[in-house]
Amino acid sequence: RATYFGAGPSALPVSVLEEAAKGLLNFQNTGIGIAEISHRSKEFTAFLTTLESLIRTQLDVPPTHQILFTQGGGSQQFSAVVMNMLARYRLLHPLDHTAAGQGQQEGGAAAAAGKLDYVVTGSWSKKAAEEARRLVVGGGGQVNVVVDGRQYSKDGKSFDNIPSHDAYTFSEDPALVYYCENETVDGVEFSHEADSAASFPFHLLKTSSSSGDGGAPRRRLVPLVADYSSSFMMRPIPRLADHAVIYAGAQKNIGPAGLTILIVRQDCLVDVDAAAQLGAAPVPTTLSWKTLADSGSLYNTPSVFSIYMAGLVLERMGAQGGLRYYEEMNRRKEEKVYAAVREGEGKGVFRKKVRDGSESWMNVVFEVSGEGAEGRFLDGAEKRGMKGLKGHRSVGGIRVSLYNAVTEEHTDALVQYMKEFIAEESQ
Ligand code: PLP
Repeated sequence: RATYFGAGPSALPVSVLEEAAKGLLNFQNTGIGIAEISHRSKEFTAFLTTLESLIRTQLDVPPTHQILFTQGGGSQQFSAVVMNMLARYRLLHPLDHTAAGQGQQEGGAAAAAGKLDYVVTGSWSKKAAEEARRLVVGGGGQVNVVVDGRQYSKDGKSFDNIPSHDAYTFSEDPALVYYCENETVDGVEFSHEADSAASFPFHLLKTSSSSGDGGAPRRRLVPLVADYSSSFMMRPIPRLADHAVIYAGAQKNIGPAGLTILIVRQDCLVDVDAAAQLGAAPVPTTLSWKTLADSGSLYNTPSVFSIYMAGLVLERMGAQGGLRYYEEMNRRKEEKVYAAVREGEGKGVFRKKVRDGSESWMNVVFEVSGEGAEGRFLDGAEKRGMKGLKGHRSVGGIRVSLYNAVTEEHTDALVQYMKEFIAEESQ
């Protein structure tokens, strides 16, 4: 097998692939393969429950949050997030037609419809904000870009940094606040060190008191939404309990494509039909998080095989020591690769693209300097059986993806090659 550094779908542990091959023929001694067995069989539903509890235990998900499984990938959640959170907002703020009418004259209709705050730090959060703009055409809401990382970049147009906290302007009482924890294309990621300038500014989120039903003050729950597609299960999630929704496609760290995992706070599992009665946009049944919750993620046929493989990966992770083990291993991996990039930068061979402190652990991006040098780097890697190193087509360069299944031995082999390349090119 190749040593694979692809960005997603990405490498999976060999032992899991071997186990899954057996499951394809005979799932848990049922005599029926996993791709054939009914999703409503007792064996499969028990497996799904186990998968849920493996995620809950390893990520320490509190009882305030439900874990849901669906399909459609991260991209489908770009839409589902907007629709469910606007429905929730409408239920919390039933339209007062008089106020909305007056508001329109004062430009206040959008406020009545809900502000959608987007933190844009890379290609994926930019895409999510674009989808939100599509869905609010006609006045269903208003997109506010809280901050755009390009404004703070070296060249004024690339996503190469997490902006410092003073750059953020959040709306009052937004319907959602959205961010992407790890930008897979650009290699930019929020730091998990609380005192880092590149950490997510949780302290700036407005949790203003408002009047509850009986006029008593109550603390508003922050509608914080995070795309964790390319950093899910690679280390613990900071302030998980303070999120309204966290979602991730499976195809980076935990399984094949086709499975999307959602961690949703109970107050965000709203009745979208009741919201539509109050003027919110109708939500397709399969995109409603409450539908998924009410049906135990079995409203329709789920991606049975992806769920199976994700379960095998998570069982293996648990046996190895869980997220703390992976956090330490992933830290060592990224440190070694960035050290090699910096060494190459010192010799004029590589150029690190992302600002210090904002670098992704999972997707290390850099450029190879000089005429034809990138091609030579990729050819040399290919000869050593290393694949998947070409950067995303929109930004070019090199991207080393270091997801959980990339071992320290794979990483060491790559670093060894990078050092040899530096020596050769700097002669
Ligand atoms: N969000 C992030 C951070 C991603 O890396 C990706 C895909 O690579 C997506 C969203 C889109 O996911 P999907 O292809 O599953 O729709």
